[in-house]
Amino acid sequence: MKNELDVIIIGAGPIGIACALECKKNGWHYLVLEKGALTNSIFNYPKNMTFFSTSEKIEIDDIPFISNKPKPNRDEALEYYRRVVTSNKLNFHLYEKVKTVTKNEDLFHVVSEKNEYIAKKVIVSTGFYDIPQLLNVEGENLPKVTHYYKEAHKYALQDVIIVGASNSSVDAALEIWRKGGNVTMVIRGESIGERVKYWVRPDIINRINEGSIKAYFNSEIIKINEFSVDIKTPTKNINILNDYVVALTGYLPDFNFLKSMGISISNDDKEIPTYNPDTMESNIDGLYLAGVICGGNETHKWFIENSRIHAKMIANHLKETI
Ligand SMILES: Cc1cc2nc3c(=O)[nH]c(=O)nc-3n(C[C@H](O)[C@H](O)[C@H](O)COP(=O)(O)OP(=O)(O)OC[C@H]3O[C@@H](n4cnc5c(N)ncnc54)[C@H](O)[C@@H]3O)c2cc1C
Repeated sequence: MKNELDVIIIGAGPIGIACALECKKNGWHYLVLEKGALTNSIFNYPKNMTFFSTSEKIEIDDIPFISNKPKPNRDEALEYYRRVVTSNKLNFHLYEKVKTVTKNEDLFHVVSEKNEYIAKKVIVSTGFYDIPQLLNVEGENLPKVTHYYKEAHKYALQDVIIVGASNSSVDAALEIWRKGGNVTMVIRGESIGERVKYWVRPDIINRINEGSIKAYFNSEIIKINEFSVDIKTPTKNINILNDYVVALTGYLPDFNFLKSMGISISNDDKEIPTYNPDTMESNIDGLYLAGVICGGNETHKWFIENSRIHAKMIANHLKETI
């Protein structure tokens, strides 16, 4: 059965929710389709993560986000976005992945795992947290390797390698070390990332300098074995004992999904999807991009703080055409 709507929003992250609020305020017949839980990316973040933003900077539509400390944590964010959705009775279908979006004449045909829909407009706010940037080394598929870090307890008294030097890697390294893990960081660059939260960066640098956490800079993993890991360092290749590898080397947007809809992507390393920066409309009329997906491979470019505005920009354009 085909359901006809004004707007379909794909992805129930903070920005998809912001778009849903705009649709509701404008009285449009809309639906959000989400493949996982509500705010699935944040749901899958490390259990004890703290946002780098203060809470008012990641609230949407001026609905107050009250947190215990200036910078909220994951649980507070889940609570906030959930309450925004339930209190405003927004129209969401969760656990319903969108498989294809095609345009016939002026209407979009959206096929999910469970249903088919017709919509005048489609907003794609699918984020980038589902596809890890792989190391592409032998042994990466061993069960001891993960690209998502949840909590430290599992790693107590274990030899753990953290790959990367970004916020996620540094948070995981410090937390696991503080819970009794023996942590080694393998870092491709020559230092801890410049974008690491300003109140965390000195902590990790001090732990490395005092030798509590071992770090190999200008180094990379070349092979993961069942009980050890081979590492290429600037001076020689080494083999160290290892129980777990936590590879936090970033995530990629689903470019194939974007391309399958006809969205063109810049032909360079950045792979930025095409959109009009004034309206957020892609190269396909009536198909919009919102949130962090707009950055392509530059996944640090957009975040909640600076992309929540996309919802109002899209609504302003839709007002002229729905
Ligand atoms: C550890 C960490 C800390 C961060 N801290 C901050 C911070 O302090 N401040 C800040 O502003 N930003 C922060 N960010 C970035 C911010 O959380 C994300 O940018 C934010 O979640 C992006 O919102 P979004 O709605 O664009 O995408 P997402 O939240 O990623 O939502 C996309 C949704 O689309 C769904 N989806 C994907 N494909 C499909 C499909 N085919 N069908 C249906 N659904 C689909 C996904 O399941 C997901 O729920 C942080 C990110 C990380 C990883």
